[in-house]
Formats: sequence, structure tokens, C-alpha cells
Amino acid sequence: MDGYKTDEVKIHILGSCSGTEPYEGRHHTSVLLEIPGGIYWLDAGECCAYTAYLMGIDLLKTRGIFISHCHMDHIGGLGNLLWNIRKLTVVERRLPLAETIPVYVPWPESYQAVMDLLEHTEDNFFCRYAHAGYPVQDGLLYRGTQGESGIAVEAVHNHHLRHEEGTPWRSFSFRVQVCGKNIFYSGDTQREDLEYTVPERCDLLMIETGHHQIAEICESLRRFGKRPGKLLFIHHGVKILNNPEWAREELKSRWGPEGMIAQDRMTLVL
Ligand SMILES: [Zn+2]
Repeated sequence: MDGYKTDEVKIHILGSCSGTEPYEGRHHTSVLLEIPGGIYWLDAGECCAYTAYLMGIDLLKTRGIFISHCHMDHIGGLGNLLWNIRKLTVVERRLPLAETIPVYVPWPESYQAVMDLLEHTEDNFFCRYAHAGYPVQDGLLYRGTQGESGIAVEAVHNHHLRHEEGTPWRSFSFRVQVCGKNIFYSGDTQREDLEYTVPERCDLLMIETGHHQIAEICESLRRFGKRPGKLLFIHHGVKILNNPEWAREELKSRWGPEGMIAQDRMTLVL
């Protein structure tokens, strides 16, 4: 396939913003993993499908959509994502790679609400392929089949949303293995969660800064003995959004050259 090595994964930042009011040049959180055999969405903030499409990504390669929790800055673009996939099957007369598109959502009611919304759109959202909603639970969510570079997506609950004993967890981080690489995506998280959610070693650690200071995250990762190959801050709050240059310098001094501040439409290759 053009421009690809089969052992590499591309990480596209579709939205690097936390749940702020509209912000010039930034959209709510969404990260897309791309391999030759598919694309995988980690959260689906507003405009994620729009941005991915304009970046030249084939939305019909969607193999799985994984929502960390149901706050609007993480799920607000899900309806449009599913709508755009269908639209492309109509205008391009092609089917998605997946016969069934699996959507993992911590609140099943939120998945159903999006599907209900879509049902009253064009042609009652009739599709020549299927969708399936699954709850997000601790453990393995998804394992790719042949041609998907060994991808496995695992969920680990965190304490971003209050949890009551005996009820399901509603907020998760994701651990992804693909192409022999380990990727961690924090979702929204408490800093103390990082001790047990983050693997000791991984190739790429993506951590939200919407609720945290750069210095505190760096200090916590060191204290917990985490040694990521690359550290990427995502889901920025206003402090970083208002001063990205300062944030880059701050991260360089606290962590070193392997630290990066995400921006919309950035692509990393592992
Ligand atoms: Zn958020």
C-alpha cells in the first residue's frame, strides 16, 4: 500500500482540545490509529470524521470505535462519524472493510441515543452493513483478525467519573497493542490512576492535560516508575491552548525531547 510499511502505525490527532467552548483551530478530543488493515477511533469528539476525511483518511477502513467516557468532548462527533461512513458507502458505492462496525461505549444508553438520532435521518439510516454497540468493561475489548497487524484494545477503568460500588465503571483508559508496539491512551483521568493504568513501558503514552499541570504529570510518571518511549500530551485545557509555546518549553524542561504537545491534524508514526 502506498506510503506504508506494514509494521508501522500512524497516530492522527483529530482533536487536541478538552471540553472547552469553541476554540480557533482546535476541536474536542479524538485520536485515530491507522494501519494498512484498518482505522480505530479513540474517542470521537466533534468534527472527528470531518477532520479525518480532509486529512485523506479512508473512513471506510473503520474497524472499531472506542469511547473512553460519555462526556460531550469525547462522544459529540459519534453521530456524524457513523453518518459520514454511511454517506461514503452511498456516494462511492463501496462497503466498509468491516461487515459490522463495533462501537464501544461506557453508557449503552448513549450508544442507543446516537442510533435513535440517526434512524430519523436520510433513508432512515438504512445501511448495507451493520453496527453493534458494546459496553466498555475492564479487560480485552477488541482483537483484530488477520490483516489487522495484531491489534488488541484493552480497557482499564479510571476515576475520572465517580464510581459507586456494585455499578459499572463509566470512565476508562485504553491500552492498545498493534504492530508489536504498545500505546496508552489516558482518556480523562485522575493523576493517581496513572500508577495502575499506565504500563511500565510503552512506545507511546498519550495523557490528557485538561485536568492537570505538565509538571505534575511528569513528576507522577517518574514517581510511578513509568518509562514511555514517547510522551504526548493531549486534551489540552486553556492554559496550554492560550500558550502552546510556553507548554512546549515547559515539557522540554520537565521531561526532555521525547515529550510532545498535541495539536489538531498532527500525525505520529511508530
Ligand atoms: Zn474531556
